[in-house]
Amino acid sequence: MTNEMNPDEKFMKEAIRLSRQAVEKGNEPFGAVLVKDGEIVYANENQIYSLSDPTFHAESGLLRRFCAETQITDLSGYTLYSSCEPCFMCSGAMVWTKLGRLVYAASDIDLCEIIGEQGCNCSRIVFDHSGHRPDVTAGVLREESVDILKSYFSGHAKG
Ligand SMILES: [Zn+2]
Repeated sequence: MTNEMNPDEKFMKEAIRLSRQAVEKGNEPFGAVLVKDGEIVYANENQIYSLSDPTFHAESGLLRRFCAETQITDLSGYTLYSSCEPCFMCSGAMVWTKLGRLVYAASDIDLCEIIGEQGCNCSRIVFDHSGHRPDVTAGVLREESVDILKSYFSGHAKG
């Protein structure tokens, strides 16, 4: 009776909380958490502006830092939760780290509709053409993430 929330929603709530925190720190609204055996082992948010690093997306930044700090480079036993579908670069990072499972909220198509660009199912395109394919669950707490993306990108250009 203590925790009836679906675990995917519980971890996605944290990724979405980080996406809000990213905006408070002057970055774009994207957050990610890495989970193993039902526990969050690492968390990161978009830091492209505060680090002057256009590649420091929530997911690729998380994977780089986690691997560097732990010396763990095979993430086949891990699940990454992202508030938005990973871009081509971040999906590629998931291939190179052999990520076991990916869960995302908003899709790239949702995001691109908001910013007036043509989106695509970029994570699937990368995984379909790579030697490693994480299990993927899409659309967990999608509406909540879409609302945050809409409110941010109504006043900011995409970096
Ligand atoms: Zn990315």
